[in-house]
This record gives sequence, structure tokens and C-alpha cells, in this order.
Amino acid sequence: MGIRKFRPDRLFDGTQFAAPGAVLVCDDSGRVIDLIPEAEAGDDLEPLQGILLPGLVNCHCHLELSHMRGMIPEHTGMVPFLTAVMKNRFAGPDLIGEAMYEADNAMYQSGVVAVGDICNTANSVAVKEQSRIRYINFIEVSGFVPSGARDRYEQALGVMKAFAATGNAYMAPHAPYSVSPALFSLLGATALSTMHNQESAEENEFFSRGTGPFNDLFKTLGVDIGFFRAPGTSSLRAVMPYLPRAGKMILVHNTETSADDLFSWQQARPALRFCLCPRANQYINDSLPPVDLLQNSGHPLVLGTDSLASNHSLDLMAELFVLLDHFPELGLEQALHWATLAGAEALDLDKHLGSFEKSKQPGLVLLRGRSTERIL
Ligand SMILES: [Zn+2]
Repeated sequence: MGIRKFRPDRLFDGTQFAAPGAVLVCDDSGRVIDLIPEAEAGDDLEPLQGILLPGLVNCHCHLELSHMRGMIPEHTGMVPFLTAVMKNRFAGPDLIGEAMYEADNAMYQSGVVAVGDICNTANSVAVKEQSRIRYINFIEVSGFVPSGARDRYEQALGVMKAFAATGNAYMAPHAPYSVSPALFSLLGATALSTMHNQESAEENEFFSRGTGPFNDLFKTLGVDIGFFRAPGTSSLRAVMPYLPRAGKMILVHNTETSADDLFSWQQARPALRFCLCPRANQYINDSLPPVDLLQNSGHPLVLGTDSLASNHSLDLMAELFVLLDHFPELGLEQALHWATLAGAEALDLDKHLGSFEKSKQPGLVLLRGRSTERIL
């Protein structure tokens, strides 16, 4: 096994920038041997122009929607977007398969080493079996009508079985507005889960006042929600009593999350991650998450791309730079931590990924300007 010694312009180790002149020593496969000063590194250094990073972790994606790139116009708002996804998500298996293969490959080339991926179907199993990316599969469950909970749960169990050989799979509730208390209770506690949360102001309106476009969504779907009484609070606070207190939960989007929501959550349970997908928020609602508020909550933040139905590419670095452009006080070092080690920790993959610690094999990525390139 050969030894490689990389001497980049700058090196980010997963948590912070290393002192100038740091050299990463690893084997041919990228397994980390050491991080040392140039003066101790000897000969055969490989200079790299740019910032050397551990592999990137995309905590929220829907690979199975990759064929929907460009199908839905931008800035429609949440309910028209959801309706369009349900209408257009079906396509021939070849088209779906080819689009997933391309998206997976593009993510790999851009330096992504792990993905938290939402699955409503088993369509992505074959691509993931061949992929060089590590997938954590979240089998998504939805059903707002309480009497249908058992059927929806059984259906999701069937999808989960199909993912048995591809790595870890966990059940995940879709969103506060699409999961009944009965279904939440069937899901129970898992070591890790995720949920779309407060992606639009309309979602909070539905729970706080019972009005707004979400009523139209159920009407369009032919779902009778006569049983529903708005609890008079935000969507997150409305479902909090049904969410398990154990296990880690990654809440995705959070564009309409308030300080009161965070306070309530802190009383309820601690193991929370906030996943930001800013380009999807811009695409659908022309909005951005309240980064300062979420950051000040003390819960770790991570990044995701969402799907190609609501994004132009699955480029995690583009998400990071949108945040830096709009919240410059954030700083590159913090944002890179979210894209690497914080993401790996959120998906329980930090034993092997996320940082240049000895014996990890996190992948090596070079950031030049705003684009990334995989080195190993
Ligand atoms: Zn999503």
C-alpha cells in the first residue's frame, strides 16, 4: 500500500482550518494516517491548489425524483409544488433509473461521500447497490387520515424490506401536515429519523387557524379532513406530542420555525439536528431559513440539497455558498463543518467519515473557488 502526502494551500479538517502548511498523510485508498506540519513531512509532497476537505455529507435528498429536473416552475408556493410532484413523479423505469444514475454519479464526482435519502418507493435500490456513495435510506411514511394508518405503515414496511441489502434504513414521517397521530404512534421510536418541517408559512397557518392552501391540497387529493380541528399552534408544536423522545431527529427546511417552537422543542427532547436546503426554499417559496435563530438554538446544523424536482443540481457546495452569500457573518469554517463532520454525525457515520482523524476514510475533496473536485 503506497503512502500519499498532500500539501494543499489550506486544509480544513472537518471542524476547523489546520495551521498553514499542514500535510495530510494517507494511504492510496484515502485512509488517514496523520496530519503533520510540512517541516516533518519529508519528500514526495503532492501540492494541491485550493482547500482540501473531507468528503461532503448531503443530509437530505430524494434520489428517486431525479427525473423531475426542470419539470416544475420556480416560486409556485408549497401546495402547487406538492400537487405537481404527485402528478409528475411517475415515469418509465428507464427514465427514472437513468436520471438517478446520473445524479448519483454527479454527487460522487462533486465529493459527496454520504447521503440521507428519502424513499417513497424501492426505485433507487439498484442504483444504490452499485453506488460508491454511502446511503442512509429514510423510508417515508405519510397518511393524514387516521383510519388509513395501518395500511400506510404496512406499505412502508414493504419498501423498507427492499432496502435491506443497501445499508441502513429507517422509517421517517413525511411532514406534520401529512401524518396522523395514529401513524406517528405506529412509527414509534427509531435510533435515527427525519421529517420535513415548517417548509412554508401555509403549513403553520393550517395548524394555527385551519385555513389556507393546505385545505385545497386535501380537496384536490379527494381526502375528507372533516375530522381535523386546528390545534391553534404551529405545525411543529402540534405534532411534538407524537414524536418519540428517544433517538435522533433531523428536521428539514425549518424556514418558518420560530423562537417559541425552539423553546418548546428544547423542553420536549434534545437529540435534534436542523437540516438546511436553502436552494430548494428559494426554488419553491423564494424564502430562506432563519439561520441565526436555528444556530443560536444550540442544536447542530447540517446541509441538504433536497431533490432535482426543487433544485437545479445536487451540489452541496452551492447550498453552502447561498448561505454564505445571504448570511456572511456565518463564515466558511462553520459552513464547511456543517457540510462535513456535522453531517456525518447526524447520519451516524462519523466513525469513518466527516473528518481527517486517524484511521478514518472520509474521502478527499478539493474546493477551488466555488467548485469541488474529488481527489480520492
Ligand atoms: Zn425533501
